[in-house]
Amino acid sequence: MKRSILVTTISLLLTTCAPVWAQGQKHHKVVKLMGSRFEITAIHPDAQTAWNGINAGIAEITRIEMLISSWDPDSQTSDINKNAGIKPVKVDRELFDLIKRGMRISELTNGAFDMSYASMDRIWKFDGSMKELPKAKIVAKAASKIGYKNIILNEAEQTVFLKEKGMKIGFGAIGKGYAAQKAKEKMKMMGIAGGVVNAAGDLIAWGKDEGNKDFKVGIADPGQKDKVMSWLVVDNGAVVTSGDYERFAMFNGKRFAHIIDPRTGYPTTGIKSVTIICPNPELADALSTSVFVLGQSEGLQLINQLKGIECLIITDNNELITSDNLELKDSL
Ligand code: AMP
Ligand code: MG
Repeated sequence: MKRSILVTTISLLLTTCAPVWAQGQKHHKVVKLMGSRFEITAIHPDAQTAWNGINAGIAEITRIEMLISSWDPDSQTSDINKNAGIKPVKVDRELFDLIKRGMRISELTNGAFDMSYASMDRIWKFDGSMKELPKAKIVAKAASKIGYKNIILNEAEQTVFLKEKGMKIGFGAIGKGYAAQKAKEKMKMMGIAGGVVNAAGDLIAWGKDEGNKDFKVGIADPGQKDKVMSWLVVDNGAVVTSGDYERFAMFNGKRFAHIIDPRTGYPTTGIKSVTIICPNPELADALSTSVFVLGQSEGLQLINQLKGIECLIITDNNELITSDNLELKDSL
């Protein structure tokens, strides 16, 4: 069956909304976590249960942040990076498994997704501070350190070893999706049968909204973030958008996204945003980044091969392109 998305114009951001608010059912908190804006919603008639659920979700995201943060010098991830080219580092099973799954996505995407992109962090800044392109030689040198095949996992020892000095891994393209999934699991365990975790555009919804209907996800205009431009009905699943509307660099009038092509070390161009719709937010997160790198044609080819995963691409020319089973309609 085709999934329908109502589109009135170009859209990039995600918010959730429902047409009728049943009093006392919907509880909702906006909080800064993992350097991003998280919006957590719980549907429950009892306020105390709802807030316990929301707080459990927040605690879970905070816990994951401590594990995967590359900024926190005391995190296990920083330990792996500090020991690049030196020695393997023993990590928690949870982190080990996340890296293992990430490497499977690297295989699936032919290296478009690569957590070792992070050696480029020293070169590219997407906060508006870069005024000119870095020298090609410098880019090439840092890019030579990218390569997921040089992330060596030892299952028995539960260790991670970055084979080359100067290598670095980062979870920017998968961590928020993973955290959203784990927060949902915690909230469900606390009795929250319906809710939404929206991690700055990486969104998972489950159960029903306060009107006992499926959640509707509004996709907003990047220029007017408060304005919802298109709607998607989400029946237990993830809607994840990667977009360069907030973090990008401009050189000679050309827009460079904050996503690095591991083959070249340069940021990607040509695509404004990629939305992935699928049951699992972690996978959706990693795939949205991957489609940016693969580009429109190769990216769609990959998504069309994957069952139950759909994709909406908005190009730099504001063209809307969908995977085979996602239909754009003027009305639902
Ligand atoms: P997202 O917004 O989910 O597309 O993630 C973008 C973030 O992923 C960037 O800010 C980087 O931290 C990281 N990243 C950039 N390029 C890659 C890549 N090729 N593979 C994996 N992670 C990447
Ligand atoms: Mg992503």
